[in-house]
Amino acid sequence: METVAKPSPLRSILQQRCPRCRIGGIFQYSIFRGFPKMCERCSICDLKFEREPGYFLGAMYFSFALGVLIMAPIAALLWFLTGWWITKVTIWAVVLFLPFAPTITLFARVLWIYLDQTVDPERLR
Ligand SMILES: [Zn+2]
Repeated sequence: METVAKPSPLRSILQQRCPRCRIGGIFQYSIFRGFPKMCERCSICDLKFEREPGYFLGAMYFSFALGVLIMAPIAALLWFLTGWWITKVTIWAVVLFLPFAPTITLFARVLWIYLDQTVDPERLR
């Protein structure tokens, strides 16, 4: 019997695939191409992505961490290139980060779903 190997977790996260089957998409299309609507359930294994109301509150931790990881190098680069005062550098880093915010917010949800399914997996019934 031939079995199809599951894609790696990292690849599945980057492609926003369901954490259980790694085939079905979490969003209707890639978050790197716009601001897609999130699917309620996996089209393949029927995993419910938003387990309960307020479920994605935890994704804010990932969103914050990703925001800092992106804004800090931008601020450091601006400071290095311009020598501006920290306030001006910070404001410009935030302004330059804003176009990435929607994608970061959705990607944080993907990371949150993967963390949650790793810690407390919802098994197939
Ligand atoms: Zn699935």
